[in-house]
Amino acid sequence: MKSEYAEVIVDLQINEVDKPFTYVIPDQLREEIDIGYQVEVPFGYRKLSGYVVELKDETDSDVKELKEIIGLKSSLPLFDRELLELANWIANYYQTYLITVLKSIIPSGDVGRKTERIVRLNYSLTDIKSELSKLSKRAYKQREILKYLIENQDKNLTSTALAEKVDTTPGTVRRLYEKDLVRYEEMEIRRDPMSNIDFESTAPFSLTAQQQEALDQIEDLRKKTESGTLLLKGVTGSGKTEVYLQAIAKVVNDGQDAIVLVPEISLTPQTVKRFKSRFGDQIAIYHSHLSAGERYDEWLRMKRGEANIVVGARSAIFAPFSNLGLIIIDEEHETSYKQGGHPKYQARKVAVKRAELTGAVTVLGTATPALESYYQMKQGNYEYASLDNRIDDRPLPPVEIIDMKEELEAGNRSIFSRKLTSAIEDRLAKNEQIILFLNRRGFSTFVLCRECGFVLECPNCDVSLTYHADKTLLRCHYCDYQKQVPDICPECESRYIKYFGVGTQKVEQAIKEEFPTARVLRMDVDTTTRKGAHQSILDKFKNKEADILLGTQMIAKGHDFPNITLVGVITADTALNFPDFRAAEHTFQLLTQVAGRTGRGDIVGKVIVQTYDSDHYSIQLAKEHDYETFYQQEIEARKELNYPPFTHLINLIIKDEDEVKVSKVANQLGGILQQQFEDEGLNANILGPIPAPLAKLRGKYRWQIMLKGNNLSKMRKLTSCSLDFLKDNINLGSTVISVDVDPIKML
Ligand code: ADP
Ligand code: ZN
Ligand code: ZN
Repeated sequence: MKSEYAEVIVDLQINEVDKPFTYVIPDQLREEIDIGYQVEVPFGYRKLSGYVVELKDETDSDVKELKEIIGLKSSLPLFDRELLELANWIANYYQTYLITVLKSIIPSGDVGRKTERIVRLNYSLTDIKSELSKLSKRAYKQREILKYLIENQDKNLTSTALAEKVDTTPGTVRRLYEKDLVRYEEMEIRRDPMSNIDFESTAPFSLTAQQQEALDQIEDLRKKTESGTLLLKGVTGSGKTEVYLQAIAKVVNDGQDAIVLVPEISLTPQTVKRFKSRFGDQIAIYHSHLSAGERYDEWLRMKRGEANIVVGARSAIFAPFSNLGLIIIDEEHETSYKQGGHPKYQARKVAVKRAELTGAVTVLGTATPALESYYQMKQGNYEYASLDNRIDDRPLPPVEIIDMKEELEAGNRSIFSRKLTSAIEDRLAKNEQIILFLNRRGFSTFVLCRECGFVLECPNCDVSLTYHADKTLLRCHYCDYQKQVPDICPECESRYIKYFGVGTQKVEQAIKEEFPTARVLRMDVDTTTRKGAHQSILDKFKNKEADILLGTQMIAKGHDFPNITLVGVITADTALNFPDFRAAEHTFQLLTQVAGRTGRGDIVGKVIVQTYDSDHYSIQLAKEHDYETFYQQEIEARKELNYPPFTHLINLIIKDEDEVKVSKVANQLGGILQQQFEDEGLNANILGPIPAPLAKLRGKYRWQIMLKGNNLSKMRKLTSCSLDFLKDNINLGSTVISVDVDPIKML
């Protein structure tokens, strides 16, 4: 590899150019340089950072014009050809810049290795013992330290850590150093995110028939040369993780690598422990709560082949493995696999693509498959295995639906139905634990009649209208249908019509009033901003320091709490009436998840779901734990309304602080898109431009244009042409246009 030229993607900070520039490789770098190195290059009058994406012996450029690479900025390549190919695919599919993708693939900067000064005995064991006896009687703590070091010679401790062990200060260690009894030694330290977790190794279980069948299917897929995907459907506790563990063992045995993705929120010490207990140091951990140093060290262990299994959140899909055999995505239906910021990729989709590039196998595990995944399976694109029972054959808990309209009719204005109230009182009396779940997503709320359950919907779009408090206006954010908030219900003329959206704080207040003796823990975005807060709330609950755990979807998944015998869902509708075509799917998934929280101990649990929409199929079928029927109904609805998986969506958001300019740019872009689509004869709907439901966010006004059609690659191409055309014709200035392909958030 002694190429003359390198193609470099330069990080211009402002993402306006995305084509590689050619640089001359100076002689002294020719041996070492390779694809994936971060380099420093001259760019105009500046020195910028970039990434090598190709090496060449010849170039079409005018050689005299070419500049030389200044130097390497990383100590080893940060990506290989395969990851580069994946990055290019992502940049193209999600309509974003390669540089943006590369920056999210690589570890957050080459932070280098960390060394620490370790304290060592400066004498042999026999000599130090005689030295010890010479020490003054008053130097009590110094003796303690020496004794500790004698007994723990294998431990690598800094003077601070050592001092802590015998309850003294580093000054004591320094006095031993001054007496030449100890010396310091520089040592490379691994910043280990799992150092505080204790592990006992576990042996594989002998599998149930269904588990064995699933494992065999994974093995069969692995034997094929092309990649393949298996959808593994099984309720929580049905033994999916055990199947993952045994599949991974086989992969590792064959000298291959495995990636396990779990939702960030369930990446708890418990989860890590299960994998670590089976595979020990072969496991790397990768997620956003690690420090930059920990992330780099874990990345390096993967890169060097010291770890060949990674358990991580979304970004672990970019693990620097060179011989990938298996990718597992647990809770594959989770919307958090779609990245909110740029690049807006869906890790599930990227996983299947990466497997395709390397011939690996993808396993998608869940109790409630994403509609899209189940559809792929039905189409014959994915294999299928299911685990129909919990390992201990414990039944799924009975689910009772409470119609909140009837409560109101009976004169009960409380947040809690009579059934839920008496169930809570009963559990409190028996000292059993309760989870109260508030299903609430997003910022906006909907308008509902508390008398008849009527929800104001858009006449054109079959989504509920969004309440804009600032203008007391109802608006459809798909087609911009608008309506004043009515004073009385258009259906039954009741005056009990109001915008709905109960917050966790309000429920907490209500609990305190109605159940004054109950000890409540609240878990929501407000109480979990601090690092580790999530875990500490769960730990407190597990230690029975509270009777009621109240929270949002955060508590829908997580651990086994054997003592929970009641789960109450305050309002199932809050998700159902969310202006999103996936509302029914999310409601079904959430209710199923929540129901899975109880009945894990010896006492059979119960689930009470309060709703104003008790007839809705997502609620009724979640009650029956009937995914198949739910799927049939929902897929019909999607087909009828022409939503994914039958079409693709691209959402364009136009943002600026200047309200007038945003609408102007949005309208111009809308016009260009219209023209382009017509010229090319592309059959796609352009919904908007309209103000986004979140019309102003962090001081910026937002408009949106939603594209809906079958031919995604053509939609993408025309979108990017239209954006280029727009940029050529007007000065966008501070206006930002962000593109979201296959959006999850409709805001
Ligand atoms: P899931 O991942 O579907 O929630 P797990 O794999 O965690 O299910 O299994 C649930 C429980 O059953 C765990 O405690 C696990 O150790 C245990 N388990 C799993 N498979 C078996 C088996 N074949 N025999 C006995 N116990 C098992
Ligand atoms: Zn509409
Ligand atoms: Zn009404």
